Amino acid sequence: MEGNYFVDAHTHFVSFGLHLERPDLSKTKSIKEAISLLKKEVGKRGIIIGEDWDESLWEEKRFPAKEELDREFPDVPVIMRRICGHVAVANTRALELIPPGWKYVREDGVLLEDVVLNLNRIFPPSFDEIKRAILRAQEVALHLNVGEIHDILIPEYYRAYLELEKEGKLKIKVLGFVLDEFRDFEEPEGKFVKFGGWKIFLDGSIGARTAALEKFSYTDGGKGMLLHEDEELEELFKLARERGKVLMIHAIGDRAIEQVLRVGKGRVCGDRIEHFELARDEQIERAIEEGFILSMQPNFIGNWSHGGGLYEKNLGRDYRINNRIGLIYRKGGKILFGSDMMPFSPPYGIDSVVRAPFPEQRLSYREAYKIYTSSSFFSKNNQPS
Ligand SMILES: [Zn+2]
Repeated sequence: MEGNYFVDAHTHFVSFGLHLERPDLSKTKSIKEAISLLKKEVGKRGIIIGEDWDESLWEEKRFPAKEELDREFPDVPVIMRRICGHVAVANTRALELIPPGWKYVREDGVLLEDVVLNLNRIFPPSFDEIKRAILRAQEVALHLNVGEIHDILIPEYYRAYLELEKEGKLKIKVLGFVLDEFRDFEEPEGKFVKFGGWKIFLDGSIGARTAALEKFSYTDGGKGMLLHEDEELEELFKLARERGKVLMIHAIGDRAIEQVLRVGKGRVCGDRIEHFELARDEQIERAIEEGFILSMQPNFIGNWSHGGGLYEKNLGRDYRINNRIGLIYRKGGKILFGSDMMPFSPPYGIDSVVRAPFPEQRLSYREAYKIYTSSSFFSKNNQPS
């Protein structure tokens, strides 16, 4: 066996920890009970964000109303985020704090998509909250025997990791990738906190039908979209080579994958394609030949690839070519495994790929375990105390 701990190569560790630190509404049986849980937080935080309610489990069988939150919390901003993570309800105090321009904020207090997905940017946690969130997430990591994570960050999160290392509280290794908007990012590295490079999104997701497709189509005829021009990605490649860092390139659909292969040709030096979900046969060959590292999520197979699942619903019969991890492995591709926190669980990922519905996806347990415990970024015998 390769290693003695798991390496999760794609995490959103701080958001995960922040989520765990907030009131958990997933087990509440009514809106009343959820509100009384949130009331306990008054005075403890500037804004109260309750997570994971599900109206189908509530007596009332409906969303909470802005008016009832206003009645119970006239002076404190409160947001209740639904279990799916794409919908939330805010009271008037919270609505007043959301800067104009965010999509989609409805007058009745219902928040949708962008604004909900970016709550941590709109209401930034304090540095202390960030550190607490990391330690909370770390408890889960240690419980799962995850000893190294590759995390997608903003600079403040990176600094929090560094400080925790200095305080002797960091027990896992962290390879940090900052979003590409932070081009000037230059921070010292610790012994167990390293700066990997930049993360860029070339397309969206299959769930939202925004992953960019070329040979394939969504069942409604849509093709998704690319988010950047070739030149922007080219520039980022130059920056990475100048600074001796690598790119983490989010590309899910075959059109986004084509863009990475086109722009990256002859420029690759340890760069990674994140997700690589809908690669065509010849694209797999070219990615391997170019030397890209393919950072994939075996749990996506378990979540969405079985008959009648999300991939089939959104892609129709083309869905069978998703996440062909087995094929890539047998062709000699360099693969990293990450959970993307959906859920944060290497054992679930391994189980998903071992029991994958299609032979081109499948790996043996031994192969999957080997990938999930491999990393070349830190030496194995060198571990945080
Ligand atoms: Zn992600």
